[in-house]
Amino acid sequence: MATKFTLIGIAAYLGRRGYDVDLYERRADPRAGNFVGGRSINLALSTRGIHALQRLGIADEVLRHAIPMRGRMIHDKSGNLDFAPYDCDPNNYINSIGRAALNTTVIEAAQRYPNVRVHFNHRCTDVDLDAPAAHLLDTETNTTSVVRADAVIGVDGAFSAVRQSMQRKLENFEYDESYLAHGYKELTIPPEPDGGWRMEKEALHIWPRKSFMMIALPNPDGSFTCTLFWEFEGPRSFATTKTDDDVRRFFDEEFPDAVPLMSGLLEDFKNNPTGSLVTIRCAPWHYKEKVALVGDAAHAVVPFYGQGMNAAFEDCVVLDECLAEMPNDRERAFAEYFVRRKQNGDALADLAVDNFIEMRDKTASRAFRAKKKLDHLLEGLLPGVYLPLYTMVTFTRIPYAQAARRARRQDRIVYASLIGIVVLLSILLFRFIVQ
Ligand SMILES: Cc1cc2nc3c(=O)[nH]c(=O)nc-3n(C[C@H](O)[C@H](O)[C@H](O)COP(=O)(O)OP(=O)(O)OC[C@H]3O[C@@H](n4cnc5c(N)ncnc54)[C@H](O)[C@@H]3O)c2cc1C
Repeated sequence: MATKFTLIGIAAYLGRRGYDVDLYERRADPRAGNFVGGRSINLALSTRGIHALQRLGIADEVLRHAIPMRGRMIHDKSGNLDFAPYDCDPNNYINSIGRAALNTTVIEAAQRYPNVRVHFNHRCTDVDLDAPAAHLLDTETNTTSVVRADAVIGVDGAFSAVRQSMQRKLENFEYDESYLAHGYKELTIPPEPDGGWRMEKEALHIWPRKSFMMIALPNPDGSFTCTLFWEFEGPRSFATTKTDDDVRRFFDEEFPDAVPLMSGLLEDFKNNPTGSLVTIRCAPWHYKEKVALVGDAAHAVVPFYGQGMNAAFEDCVVLDECLAEMPNDRERAFAEYFVRRKQNGDALADLAVDNFIEMRDKTASRAFRAKKKLDHLLEGLLPGVYLPLYTMVTFTRIPYAQAARRARRQDRIVYASLIGIVVLLSILLFRFIVQ
């Protein structure tokens, strides 16, 4: 099968399975130093992504470039710090990995298969679904071509050209996109002169400020990539913060402990783009045996659970399993892949939006911290029986939809038990008083 697509992870999977693969990527080869900065430079890699990389035999290679983040470091407005581990098991942590390092390792893994060919600087402009064939523009020579294949797999991100072709040409194609009122901007905390880190290295730093927040993830070169998630519009927003004085005033008020560490703040704020945050749901994710969607092309989610890339890798694993189970019926394999993944994509989309509210608002509250402590206590007392939602999403491969349902059930039981305990204690106290 000659398969045309873009996600490098799936190229490695299909190559490993013996398919003849041509991968078309609109950008230049990142190994030539063409990496585009200012947009999600580093990512949190966790169990689902690591599992997918293990199946390709490259997890250790990728993790060599990663920095463990063992918990959240909360920064309040006075600069006080509060560290909360992600899990009661210290072996459960997330990993900050540079997008460039990850891409490079996975491209090289794909290219180890002689049946995988990677073509950079090729933008897909349209897909003929029935042929199937990809229309491509070579952005170096400005020439176009049409490449036929047995199947076209669209792994071309949230604004997928493959998905747009399905939208235009399939009558029953369901599509929904919703944007948050917040955008994001990446900023940098540079390393110490000796290459050290200016804040705790093994943590995901959060400055929760109720309606907005800033986070920072460590990089191997001693720097941190900060991301400010803030309203596009409003009295205090990206729209109203134009001059250097505006930027300085806002940061001095909200993130006073970070400002002395951000020597390039004004330049970064001016020069780095403001990205938007979109959730995309669509159905189906395939057309006959000819076209399939993987990753953000099928289910873009907002980044607040640190799962978009992990979920995209998990798609690769599931699609690979379906192709292995149904080697002679690709249409059924694509359909089964869609059935196994769709509800999980939808569940993750909801979890990710909910986690934005948790990160920007609740992480600063005592109630949140008490709930996390209770979660860890119950997880320790009832191993394998009680699993906090964050643990299930981040440190297990329990399908997202199942994890969300189980967390709701657990919460109901915990709250009912707490109410029961309070009632019981009240009765005992009442009896003690009237005796
Ligand atoms: C600010 C931010 C922070 C994030 N943090 C995390 C995190 O911590 N953990 C996590 O798991 N996820 C995170 N994500 C989500 C993650 O980035 C995505 O879910 C993941 O990159 C999806 O992978 P993908 O391959 O489907 O799409 P992409 O990574 O978008 O890759 C698509 C590829 O297709 C190429 N392409 C696009 N259009 C075309 C075309 N027409 N023709 C040819 N090639 C094309 C692009 O150049 C790109 O290389 C974050 C996202 C954002 C915005």
